[in-house]
Amino acid sequence: MTNNPRVFNFSAGPAVLPLPVLEEAQRDLIALPGAGMSILEISHRSDTFESIFADAIGAVRQVAGVPDHYKILALQGGASLQFTMVPMNLLLAGTTADYIDTGSWSKKAIKEARRVGNVNVAASTADDNYNRIPGADEIHLTPDAGYVHITGNNTIAGTEWPALPEVGDRPIVTDASSHILSGPIDVSRYGVIYAGAQKNLGPSGVTLVIIREDLIERSSDDLPTMLSYRTHVDNDSHFNTPNTFGVYILGLTMKWLLSQGGLSGIAEVNERKAAKLYTEIDRTGFYRGTAVKDSRSRMNVTFRLGDEAAEKTFVREAAAAGLEGLKGHRSVGGMRASIYNAFPEEGVDALVDFMQEFERKRG
Ligand code: PMP
Repeated sequence: MTNNPRVFNFSAGPAVLPLPVLEEAQRDLIALPGAGMSILEISHRSDTFESIFADAIGAVRQVAGVPDHYKILALQGGASLQFTMVPMNLLLAGTTADYIDTGSWSKKAIKEARRVGNVNVAASTADDNYNRIPGADEIHLTPDAGYVHITGNNTIAGTEWPALPEVGDRPIVTDASSHILSGPIDVSRYGVIYAGAQKNLGPSGVTLVIIREDLIERSSDDLPTMLSYRTHVDNDSHFNTPNTFGVYILGLTMKWLLSQGGLSGIAEVNERKAAKLYTEIDRTGFYRGTAVKDSRSRMNVTFRLGDEAAEKTFVREAAAAGLEGLKGHRSVGGMRASIYNAFPEEGVDALVDFMQEFERKRG
């Protein structure tokens, strides 16, 4: 018996990857089967990589049921670059984009969009410390908005849209970084879905962009080449060197996701994991969930204790017990358990046990 060197990694991202993915990558790291060289060394124009790329993108299409009239891109620059690329490509002069402000990442997206064009903040829950998603009656859309931008899951505040807002025929653009492929999704309800890979898809350095074909028409020929969606669509994400290793891990992660029963299979596990933690948080009042119940995230479970000193102790003792990464984001404090697709259910059970023990000692 060897000791398992791995801790339970509750980090918000980069985050835990499925063990079978790491094992396969490790096995093939010296030489990809049939290629005689590693994924870190192989040309992005080689047949081997072309087939890895096509398989990875094809698997995303299959897993998420992406319709044919959507393009799937594997870009770089993180979700943060999409804060800029989305308005540069889609926010035409003389039009307005609606943004719904549900937290720090929304605010960053809004800041970048304002550099490019007219932005209307159609709703904001800033006054409630972003502890909830706005209701339909609070959202004031521009009649002919070019698009409506939302942050599908708010990694820091621990909130998630329980259902999409009603926006008529305005395209929805969502930053899905922290909940992409965590459950069934109707891609046809979106104009653009973007996400940094480092939570649910693979390592950092790959950004997935799923874009409805007709929206690509908006990209002006005057845009800087690398910032134009059209460039990346026309070159199948190979205008420059893609993140070959990241795309490879994305493909393995999609294969793993399919083995888990795809999006409906993983959704069931994700709901069970989140329910276990929220049930424990609500059990006695010793812990306090920070998000309003109907806005709670299934991916980032945020909670607090009575005082900050106790929270520090909690995070420290949890780490000593092999439960790492539970400190809340530096901007909000408290605790955050990020339990993305690949986070094992045993780790959630271990955290629940730890929380009960911590309460017994200090409650
Ligand atoms: N949006 C959300 C919702 C995020 O959680 C993050 C990263 N934590 C970002 C955007 C920024 O992503 P990146 O670091 O890939 O630019």
